[in-house]
Amino acid sequence: MFIMSRFKVVWPLAFILVLICHASFAFDNEPPQSLNVYDVASEVSEPFSSNRLIVTNSKAWKPYSFIDESGKPAGILVDFWEAYGEANGVEIEFQLVDWQESLERVKHNQADIHAGLLWSESRAKYLAYGRTLFAIDTQLYFHQSLQTFDANAFLQGNHRHSVGVVSGGYEADYIQTHFPKVSLTFFANNALMIEAALGNRIRAFVADQQVANYYLTTSRASGQFIGVKHLYSGELYYATSISRAQALGSVIADFNNVTAQERNQILSRWMHITTVYPDYLPKLVIGVVGALVILYLVVFNLAVKRRTAELARTNQKLKHLSETDALTGLWNRRYFLEKLKLYGQANWNLTVMIVDIDNFKSINDTYGHIKGDLVIKSVAEKLNGLTTSTQTVARIGGEEFAVAFVKMAKGASEQLAENICRAAREVALEEIDYHMVTVSVGCVIYQNASDFETLYEADKLMYAAKKQGKNQAVIEYLPSSIQIIQSAK
Ligand code: GH3
Ligand code: MG
Ligand code: MG
Repeated sequence: MFIMSRFKVVWPLAFILVLICHASFAFDNEPPQSLNVYDVASEVSEPFSSNRLIVTNSKAWKPYSFIDESGKPAGILVDFWEAYGEANGVEIEFQLVDWQESLERVKHNQADIHAGLLWSESRAKYLAYGRTLFAIDTQLYFHQSLQTFDANAFLQGNHRHSVGVVSGGYEADYIQTHFPKVSLTFFANNALMIEAALGNRIRAFVADQQVANYYLTTSRASGQFIGVKHLYSGELYYATSISRAQALGSVIADFNNVTAQERNQILSRWMHITTVYPDYLPKLVIGVVGALVILYLVVFNLAVKRRTAELARTNQKLKHLSETDALTGLWNRRYFLEKLKLYGQANWNLTVMIVDIDNFKSINDTYGHIKGDLVIKSVAEKLNGLTTSTQTVARIGGEEFAVAFVKMAKGASEQLAENICRAAREVALEEIDYHMVTVSVGCVIYQNASDFETLYEADKLMYAAKKQGKNQAVIEYLPSSIQIIQSAK
């Protein structure tokens, strides 16, 4: 699996390298001289039409010549001959057919020129060759399941596998001549052969390296087949029928009008196209990148949400800690004063009370601080029990509490102050030998909250209660006269 995936990466690169080498071999210098395969003088030559040339080749020989998805001729050889047509003012008609058929057409003068093919002795009997265009390499390809076979032994026969070749192709000729024991399966063109290979109908085939790479790397099954043996390298030539060998001279001359630069441009254009990779690759890349971006955004969003919630919880916790009293769980002085400010902004009646435990120092001195704390907690619980959530109860000092609320019905505040005094007396703690706890309450009722300024008045009233003997509430209406409620002892 690892080896196969490495091949997937290496093949397109190898293909580019091969094409680059060919481009420079073929065109860095002037085109090489044509093969000495036709005897110009010995044949009767029929001239080509001066303004129209029928050029034939395979219809499925990517990237050299093929019919594209829109039904038009395409490929390196097609571009070469189109460049030829333009350079010489000649109209080019392409006849792209099956490989064997393309040879037949030239042989029988149904087509003028074969766009590009290898030289072989059998072809030289009926074809006159022009000049070289570029080189191709031919390889034996194996399906991955055959990789245990030694390619040389395989070519000697003695196995049940048949090797795919294109009918009329030089590959078929080559195998039949050099490896006669190999059984062949013939296909009309490369596309059909590689389709059969990818469909598991053949497990080995012979093809030009560039052609095989083009088909394999642009299919989903790339990597299933790999080239296992280089068979031969050869130059591609254009050719015509032997009967027109002399006329080929004018084509050779005219082909020089296609500059080396133009030919190199054509090759590099196809190199570029082959590096575009399989059709599905851009979509796949866009899909994967898109999915990753979405995944990232979702994960990022979730992480942000989680962190935000965590922060909100932490802030909430900190806020609560900064506003409450640790011993009693009541609001603290800071929170209480802020709340008072808010109450003061409305035109409501406002009640403010200060509740101070009487003789607390002596409780501490008699029973110790820890038991003193129990008394503070017990009074806090009583205050909590007597008030509602719309009323603010806080511990504002050591053994000092404050209560504030708005919109109280007439007489209710006095009642509450009295209830607080009574509730304190009901605190009965074994830890302090059921010593009676009493509180002094200063309670001020402002008729309009906006009149309120500080805790000063409530404090003053609480001290008045102390002065009058403790264990009682002193209540004042502002503006109004002082009322003293003496709690029953
Ligand atoms: P009065 O009746 O006049 O209010 O007398 P008092 O003894 O209650 O008042 P004083 O202000 O003299 O004493 C209050 C004591 O409360 C002094 C201090 O040691 C004690 N105290 C303050 N905070 C705490 C606390 O958190 N826990 C305990 N156990 N004692 C505290
Ligand atoms: Mg006090
Ligand atoms: Mg006190």
